[in-house]
Amino acid sequence: MRRFSGLGPFLLLLGFLCSFPGRPLLAAPAVVLSPEEQAYLARLGSVRMCVDPDWVPFERINQEGRHEGIAADLVQLVAARVGLRLELYPVHNWEESLAASRAGRCQIMSFLNQTPERDAWLDFTQPIFSDPNVIITREEHDFIPDLSRLRGQRVALPRGTMVAERVRRDYPELQVLPTASEEESVALVSRREADMTVRSLIVAAYAIRKEGLFNLKIAGQIPEYTNQLRIGVLKEEPLLRSILDKGVATLTQAERDEIASRHVVVQVQRGIDYRLVWQVLGGALLVLALVYYWNRKLRRLNRELARLSVTDRLTGLYNRLKLDEALEGEVQRALRFDQPFSLIILDLDHFKGVNDDYGHQLGDQVLIHLARLLQDNTRETDVVGRWGGEEFMVICPHTALDGALSLAEKLRLLLQECAFPVVGPRTASFGVSAYRAGDQARDLVARADAALYAAKHQGRNRVEGS
Ligand code: GH3
Ligand code: MG
Ligand code: MG
Repeated sequence: MRRFSGLGPFLLLLGFLCSFPGRPLLAAPAVVLSPEEQAYLARLGSVRMCVDPDWVPFERINQEGRHEGIAADLVQLVAARVGLRLELYPVHNWEESLAASRAGRCQIMSFLNQTPERDAWLDFTQPIFSDPNVIITREEHDFIPDLSRLRGQRVALPRGTMVAERVRRDYPELQVLPTASEEESVALVSRREADMTVRSLIVAAYAIRKEGLFNLKIAGQIPEYTNQLRIGVLKEEPLLRSILDKGVATLTQAERDEIASRHVVVQVQRGIDYRLVWQVLGGALLVLALVYYWNRKLRRLNRELARLSVTDRLTGLYNRLKLDEALEGEVQRALRFDQPFSLIILDLDHFKGVNDDYGHQLGDQVLIHLARLLQDNTRETDVVGRWGGEEFMVICPHTALDGALSLAEKLRLLLQECAFPVVGPRTASFGVSAYRAGDQARDLVARADAALYAAKHQGRNRVEGS
């Protein structure tokens, strides 16, 4: 089945669109009539009603001569609430209806706008129905949230109508194309000779579908141009008007909506539902933010893990793993670039005694202080780590044996001068080796170890190299 309006995700199916803003959905309250009104009703018998015989879907007189449509249902409901019996005054057209009303042949007119001209012979009830005027465009036209934002678009409108006058006055940037009738206006839009027209929502929705103008849609509303449709009552029947008004006051929004939807189903394109868009976007952003957050957290954790895996927990220096890696790297570099590099291994002298005399905790403090001393007194490019227990290693890139020997000597002296808390000054023995062509990492370590061993043997607190 084809549908008459531009369809898309933002189409809203509305069985009822005409509304009375701000009126709550209330159950119909009982109608309380004054004694005067009751007496009037008792005398009255039935009330003759003039209608528009051809104004679908609001009202018409059908082939059986019965009044039907939105207005018919609403007026019947009002009449039933106040206990009025209605009698249809038969006419052939609207002009005949107006003439009969003027001549006093019918006491009420079912459904019409209040105008100064009609005020001459009619009083009006409160509105029984409100019907917005809507903007009708071709299907491909964007939703129109506000007519005043458009410039130079062609609006087809029937000549001399209230809407045409108001559009000219209120929206001077638009170009009004005068037409002979509403049907002609709609046809011009359909044929692309105009960009839009303005029409009662209920009539437009009904007509577009009935006339098969499937390339048209309702693209916006003009809330200020809403039709307020009322029951007109002869001026000489003030009690009748007050009785009807009491009935009108009982109409609820739900009843009006239900009656309208019985006669026309309207599909209207609403503007993009920005609330929904923001909700969806917000949700997506939240997910993205979470993913981003987790990624960052994961990256941070991974970095931390990587750092921990190469760090000695007690001293914060590189651990054995990293020293092995760095050593391997230096051997490869030395091989490729023919550059010198050296290695220092130092071992605290008689460290076992520290633990024995002062306890393991103070022994740890000595190791931490020594680590700081080594770090602070070597180059940025040197790699300082804990080789194990109370042994440390310094890898010195771009440094030949002499340079490494002097660095070791410097460190030895600094340590010797350094008084550790409680424990006092400590010393260490140093073994130094330098890269030789063809060396593997383990050869260098073995020679540094041998030198260290020699330093220990020669009385400790010494530097030996090979
Ligand atoms: P030397 O090297 O001069 O021959 O004597 P030493 O006493 O230092 O030699 P040894 O290798 O026999 O002892 C090393 C001691 O270092 C044993 C152990 O108690 C201590 N040590 C090793 N690792 C740690 C540590 O993490 N914390 C503490 N407090 N002591 C440690
Ligand atoms: Mg030792
Ligand atoms: Mg040792």
